[in-house]
Amino acid sequence: MPETYEIGLGNYDTETRKSAESDFVSFWGKQAESLHWFSKWNNVLDWDPPFAKWFVGGKINASYNALDVHQEKRASKPAILWEGENGESRTLTYRDLWVQVQKLANALKSLGVEKEDRVTIYLPMVPELPIAMLACSRIGATHTVVFSGFSASSIRDRIDDSKSKIVITADGGYRRGNIVKLKDVVDEAIKDFDFVKNVIVLERTKNQITINQKDKLWKDLMNNASENCEAEPLDSLHPLYILYTSGTTGKPKGVLHGTGGYLTHLHSTFKWAFDIKDSDVFFCTADIGWVTGHSYVVYAPLLHGATEVMYEGAPDFPDASRMWDVIQKYKVSIFYTTPTALRMFMKFGDDIPNSFDLSSIRLLGTVGEPINPEVWKWYYRVIGKEKCPIIDTWWQTETGGMMISPLPGLETIPLKPGSGTNPVPGVFISVVDEKGDDVPANTKGYLVIKKPWPGMLLTLWGDDEKYKNVYWSKYKNCYYPGDYAIKDEDGYFWLLGRADDVLKVAGHRIGTAELESCIVSHEDVAESAVCGIPDEVKGEVIISFVVLKENCSKPSTELKKELIAKIRNDIGAIATPKEIYFVSKLPKTRSGKIMRRLLKAIASNDKIGDVSTLEDGAAVTEVQNAFEELQKSMKK
Ligand code: ATP
Ligand code: MG
Repeated sequence: MPETYEIGLGNYDTETRKSAESDFVSFWGKQAESLHWFSKWNNVLDWDPPFAKWFVGGKINASYNALDVHQEKRASKPAILWEGENGESRTLTYRDLWVQVQKLANALKSLGVEKEDRVTIYLPMVPELPIAMLACSRIGATHTVVFSGFSASSIRDRIDDSKSKIVITADGGYRRGNIVKLKDVVDEAIKDFDFVKNVIVLERTKNQITINQKDKLWKDLMNNASENCEAEPLDSLHPLYILYTSGTTGKPKGVLHGTGGYLTHLHSTFKWAFDIKDSDVFFCTADIGWVTGHSYVVYAPLLHGATEVMYEGAPDFPDASRMWDVIQKYKVSIFYTTPTALRMFMKFGDDIPNSFDLSSIRLLGTVGEPINPEVWKWYYRVIGKEKCPIIDTWWQTETGGMMISPLPGLETIPLKPGSGTNPVPGVFISVVDEKGDDVPANTKGYLVIKKPWPGMLLTLWGDDEKYKNVYWSKYKNCYYPGDYAIKDEDGYFWLLGRADDVLKVAGHRIGTAELESCIVSHEDVAESAVCGIPDEVKGEVIISFVVLKENCSKPSTELKKELIAKIRNDIGAIATPKEIYFVSKLPKTRSGKIMRRLLKAIASNDKIGDVSTLEDGAAVTEVQNAFEELQKSMKK
């Protein structure tokens, strides 16, 4: 096992952990008391597997907990420090947000939006996006945010699935210096949908748009709306939002989240993992179109009355120094990003971050994919200057909030690069075999969640059967997240990649993360993806794709040999790839995750399936070309 990093005192908060262990239901009941409830619940948990009802009978409102509760003490405190891609900036205080949200909530009401109506939000990363979400939650409408990089057909499917009455969009959004014409996309997407009653259009870029009969300008609605809109007391189980998953493993799933349990989960995990203080400046780089943005850009920081930075554009625009510049400018103290972004920053070398003042940072977080230990160490050394813990948080759209994570707001334990350490208190996670029995320490198996948790999805939107099948059919009364993992001798969890992607070679099972991390630890490698493809003799063989760092050695047979020698040495001959392809980019989802299923499909000549969330078609072409070249060279 890799070395451990002693940060802090090395203590668990045994008291909290014991109370969660002995009675997790009362434990979560206690946590929920930190929120504002219009009326208290009768029952903390009603568990009718696989449906969990948290805080039954309680009345609550997400927007009230994010805004109203801060008006006495934090009205003039900045809630959002917004940085536009073009360098513009805006500050919105808790009072500003509160006023804007109430006005928009009244505007929605004036358009006939009622409790449980769905509202699709297709906006760029501007403050109006959280304002729109909070306006919906204030009146009990269910928001469904669609990432603003999606095409007309992707947004069309999602609007159709949720049957939204209203769509909120903008004339355009900035991305890499260009204008993305969002309104045109919406016009195309909804042209056959009578059920969409109105489209609200925010003027962001002032590019030309066609105004149709259904369209209402954001500014006109706001000018006419009153500033007072009481937050609606809603059932704890009230559907707060529908959000589609990243589509890494297949067609995106419409995850439905409730209110009381979800907010409780976020309030607790944000405090435990990020040790949030009034003096902090929090910066999460996730787009609000993904769950990390919903939970840890919008709801969790606002529940705590925190100040946060929200950034509009691409993290490497106009160049790879942008994030460090933002951190320096706003004196960010907590930075939360993804392994994929970190690998990109690493690729450009240490000099760029080293030329900025990053001394305000005290905690660093990561989420979205397994973090390669080499990348973890770089983050720790170059960005955190060997004084900031790395908070590696494992969770999913479906879990609502963090499930496995170091928790410096609660306890100080040694960290191991590449491990998210332990489940959060009140969450019960194991690694099991095919039959569902716990495997011994250091043995690979499937991750399972053994008891319901407050942030748990209510169901998949409109499809209880699919919900049962996808998550609850592999193991009885246990939630199956679809990830492959190890629990080590200290009880630390290591995520090894998707269970579907596990490499099965000559009877051995290897997680993709193990092999990729080994390849990435070569000094010339920036990124790697591996997958298994069918082989007549061996059943399955491994192939590997490698992206090299800038200014390093060029692809060569020597480098291939070095990589193979490294894999044989670090993992074993069994993991030797049949072929290594050098490419300049990998196919990824728009949330930045490697789409291994696509590599596998191309290499096996299979159909490539749903690619609506693919980031860049050029990466697919490149992979296809690499194969063709290889096939040609084999024929020669
Ligand atoms: P889909 O379910 O549509 O295939 P997705 O699983 O990528 O998409 P998300 O809910 O955004 O959609 O991602 C959750 C998944 O991301 C987890 O199941 C896990 O595989 C991976 N993941 C998230 N955080 C971590 C982490 N810290 N370490 C390892 N893996 C992580
Ligand atoms: Mg998933």
